[in-house]
Amino acid sequence: MPKVSVHWFRHGLRLHDNPALLEGIKDSDKFYAVFIYDGETAGTKITGYNRAQFLYESLRDLDNQLHEVGSQLFVFKGDAIEIFTQLHEEVGITHLTFEQDCEAIWNQRDNGVRKMCSELGIAVVERVSHTLWDPLKIIEANGGLPPLTYEMFVQVSQMLGPPPHPVPDPVWDNVIFGELSDELALRLKLYPQVPTPEEMGLACGVEAPVYIGGEQAALAHLKDRLRVEEDAFRDGYILPNQVNPDLLGPPMSMSAALRFGCLSTRKFYWDVQETYTRINNGEPPASYSLTAQLIWREFFYCMSANNPQYDKMENNPICIQIPWYNNPAHLSAWEKGKTGYPFIDACMRQLHKEGWIHHVCRTAVACFLTRGDLWISWEDGLKVFYKYLIDADWSVAAGNWMWISSSAFERQLDCSVCICPVEYGRRLEPTGDYIRRYVPELASLPQEYVFEPWKATLPIQQKFGCILGKDYPHRIVIHETASKANCKMMKSIRKKFKRAPKHCAPSNSDEIKQYLRLPKACFHNVL
Ligand code: FAD
Ligand code: MG
Repeated sequence: MPKVSVHWFRHGLRLHDNPALLEGIKDSDKFYAVFIYDGETAGTKITGYNRAQFLYESLRDLDNQLHEVGSQLFVFKGDAIEIFTQLHEEVGITHLTFEQDCEAIWNQRDNGVRKMCSELGIAVVERVSHTLWDPLKIIEANGGLPPLTYEMFVQVSQMLGPPPHPVPDPVWDNVIFGELSDELALRLKLYPQVPTPEEMGLACGVEAPVYIGGEQAALAHLKDRLRVEEDAFRDGYILPNQVNPDLLGPPMSMSAALRFGCLSTRKFYWDVQETYTRINNGEPPASYSLTAQLIWREFFYCMSANNPQYDKMENNPICIQIPWYNNPAHLSAWEKGKTGYPFIDACMRQLHKEGWIHHVCRTAVACFLTRGDLWISWEDGLKVFYKYLIDADWSVAAGNWMWISSSAFERQLDCSVCICPVEYGRRLEPTGDYIRRYVPELASLPQEYVFEPWKATLPIQQKFGCILGKDYPHRIVIHETASKANCKMMKSIRKKFKRAPKHCAPSNSDEIKQYLRLPKACFHNVL
């Protein structure tokens, strides 16, 4: 029987280190590469323009690369089961290959497709390459439950050994590509080319992408990123992005490329390890120190793998129930970057505009919305992040929100430390240029008022053309009072527990520092 295989791209939008794709093209008599807009796949359920644009560029890049070897990416819109069933009727699919999407929200889609395949006699070939380890293997190795703290996660993953190296690139020489009849293409509504966000109904508003999607852009970007890591290794330190958060520098993040799988996380991991070893005369680094952030990613994926309620407070077994306020006016001010706290507003406006903000900015705005100042549910903040972030991950975003809001993973329920929305920003970017860039109405104020415009007297406000309440909002809460009251509430919630839930216990204060990515000197002054 001839082998007719379809590789179904969902995430994993790349040709390199794609083991399922290799299985698909191996000895096949006909090969098809497919992407389906089903309204949810690849984070399209809630999305702003920037992420849609990133996805578009990623798909176009795949399509271009496939054209170069004589084929194309077949892009459809509709229900995966229906599309595969009709495709099967015409071309007789024998193998369906795809990369594992380990988050619980994809289970229903994938179980449906697995069932369809078993009914139609199609072999399913699913491979793990979105994560360093198979989250389900980690859970198995931990006795059936996900490791509840980062430290436990590290221990269990070490039992499984180092992550696999990337697999070789595909060789296209002998691959025979399948085609579709015009009649079927019409019936399945095959797009003549990858549709733009505008064609998908997403008009560009104020958003202004900074990151470019696609495998080729990601691989070029990785080279720049490795140079930064290499310079740090030569200078005798690691995690440069964490040691010196640079809020004004060029875009250096790989997170959206990792989210969409334009870059293989295993390639990133091993390239960093190998760079270090080369610089250090063949001496490999200590376990995961260089790539600790990638391990956080694994941790959150693993925590969510069997928990469909992971993005909710209610009925989520790992989330503490906290009686958050319902305050639409405060939520809206936060979302729009109009809280009256310049650093918080700069972060939120950068998020809207560019779709990406630094980790230290994410922690600041998330703490401000939740346990720090506004006492509004992390679920509300999460929805805003889901819409605007180009790297929005269902589980990684939810896990981080639970962490910051003290809803899970984090011990400091007594909330003796809250991020100060003024001092924290000043420490991270003392010149105020970050604020000036994203909150232009404050740009003319003298340095001393940029972080705290309420300290400027009315004549000063008038002189510099920034009147509070007119040109820029008054503070919606007073941090000193609000954070104290919130601390009290957290303490009383904590008292209700006879024993703190296990998952609210990070291993030690180093873990908190590492998570928050605060330069050591900052830690005591800004919280
Ligand atoms: P690097 O320091 O270069 O880290 C390398 C990679 O590790 C990142 O690209 C990312 O894939 C991963 N990573 C880094 N930090 C974390 C972390 N804390 N948790 C999980 N993975 C991490 N990251 C996302 O990828 N998607 C999200 O939806 C997301 N939502 C977040 C929500 C909140 C409230 C917070 C506080 C953080 C969130 N993060 C999310 C984590 C983190 O802020 C970003 O991954 C990071 O800013 C990306 O920048 P980078 O690539 O320069 O990171
Ligand atoms: Mg990165």
